[in-house]
Amino acid sequence: MDTDTLRDPITDSIHLLTGAHVVDALDDRLRRSFEAHLRACPTCEGEVADFRETVALLAGSGSVTPPAGVRSRVLRTVPLRGPGWRGRLRGLRGP
Ligand SMILES: [Zn+2]
Repeated sequence: MDTDTLRDPITDSIHLLTGAHVVDALDDRLRRSFEAHLRACPTCEGEVADFRETVALLAGSGSVTPPAGVRSRVLRTVPLRGPGWRGRLRGLRGP
């Protein structure tokens, strides 16, 4: 018999909650279930650690200030309405 037919979709799907757990997106019932699962599942434990590292990197990445003049060039060349905006965008590429 194929082992895939013996798998329980309810308990298998709990492995998919690692990302939601890391960003605190689980309701109380799912969070408790997942935390109980996490204590016994090294795969999810490793995935949670990886997600936490990624979230920390993203949180510390901040924003990038565009080069001077970009805003004024965009506002000068892109109309708010009407045809021809694609051609005007080509002018933003610069020399
Ligand atoms: Zn797991």
